[in-house]
Amino acid sequence: MKCCLCDGEVDKHYTPEGEMYWDKGHNPAPVKTGEDDRCCDTCNATVVIPARLVHAGGMEPEAASKLAEVIMADYRPEPQEGEGE
Ligand SMILES: [Zn+2]
Repeated sequence: MKCCLCDGEVDKHYTPEGEMYWDKGHNPAPVKTGEDDRCCDTCNATVVIPARLVHAGGMEPEAASKLAEVIMADYRPEPQEGEGE
């Protein structure tokens, strides 16, 4: 699957056991809103999250991209275990 923003390959996520559980990327809204648009981890962190903070939170673009860096530094996608959602 290709990233709709940088044309790179969307990142695959693996469980600690090495099983791939997610390869669908991220929702790129509000940067792109096409039905099939998905973006990679890098674009999500550097483009989409800052854009959301600016759109939804009314932040200055510069402050938003700094905050996004902090958020992504702590971000580790976790596989869902057990009870469904
Ligand atoms: Zn990308």
